[in-house]
Amino acid sequence: MAALTEAERKVVEWIADERAATLGLIEALVNTDSGSLDKAGVDAAGERIRGFLAARGIACDVVPHERYGDGIRATVGEGDGRTILLMGHRDTVYARGEAARRPFRVADGRGSGPGCCDMKAGLAMNAIVLSAFKTFGPPGPLVALFTADEEIGSPSSRALIEQEARRARAVFNAEPGRPNGGVVTGRKGGVFMKIEVTGKAAHAGNNLADGVSAIEEMARKIVDLHALTDPERGISCNVGTVAGGEVVNMVAPSATAGLDLRFIHPGDRDGAMAAIERIVAHRHLAGASTRLEITGEFKPLVASAESGKLFEHYAACAREFGQKVTGEFAGGCADSGFAASVGAPTLCGVGPIGGRAHSPDEYLDVESIVPRAQALALAVMRLA
Ligand SMILES: [Zn+2]
Repeated sequence: MAALTEAERKVVEWIADERAATLGLIEALVNTDSGSLDKAGVDAAGERIRGFLAARGIACDVVPHERYGDGIRATVGEGDGRTILLMGHRDTVYARGEAARRPFRVADGRGSGPGCCDMKAGLAMNAIVLSAFKTFGPPGPLVALFTADEEIGSPSSRALIEQEARRARAVFNAEPGRPNGGVVTGRKGGVFMKIEVTGKAAHAGNNLADGVSAIEEMARKIVDLHALTDPERGISCNVGTVAGGEVVNMVAPSATAGLDLRFIHPGDRDGAMAAIERIVAHRHLAGASTRLEITGEFKPLVASAESGKLFEHYAACAREFGQKVTGEFAGGCADSGFAASVGAPTLCGVGPIGGRAHSPDEYLDVESIVPRAQALALAVMRLA
């Protein structure tokens, strides 16, 4: 650490000293169920963060929301200058009860439990970095958002993220770092949709011809929808869920499907949506009708000259601690796309390292927590 200034050394040493407190916050967060649709749970996770920050002299603003968890914003440092924004989401993909079944555990340097790397460790990292600058003085206005509903496309958080990103000169999103220590410099955009087909019930043996099979109509559409996938262009169209019918001896009167569109280039979104709408509108069976509904949407994280510089800056800071950081492209969507889409230089995946998110095998590399927090803190200091 020879290349650090005295002020920088103080901050990163303080962060190392706070390792147990940071791990304690991760444990408390993982053990608090906070599925996206569980407002009480997402707010309880927020309460843990607010308590942690309050004990370190940092007050939070709460942006209330009736349906989803409240938005939480913490600010350290004053001035009208442009901010540095740290982001993270409090929700997970897990239903209530998962935390009791799989509470946070550490074995052989690996943490486990629902949302441990995606992204409760990232939230705790941002909280400790914020606390460090509260203690030693921030290099400029530093804002952290602890948002509520990323896993379902951030219906309540998107406006807050865009508002904060517009006044930020750099955005760091603490989604999990890649297993090789890389960060994320690009992400696909995505649109999540629900398709509902209505047909007509009839007895499958006595009067089949009177029925209109919603399942058959849906099946034909699915084949057409999947054909829109263009791997070379980075477009994918995948039906991830299907349900339909009532009983085996009835022509299915209804069917539903969940559709996931992904794309790399922002310009591809509208063309792909138009193709999807055409396929949905095309009727294969007389008497069938179909509805399409967008249930969530993410903007792609598109690399820019500015975000490229931010990556180089972060990687140089990480090198001070002996970390080799690569910039990677991820097919998964995240809130960083919203920040980037309003023009803020944005880097994603700067959180502690982990993997296998959204599965019972999700893990957190516990030894990466302090180094990632230190790299982020140095990057913040050196942006000033
Ligand atoms: Zn996440």
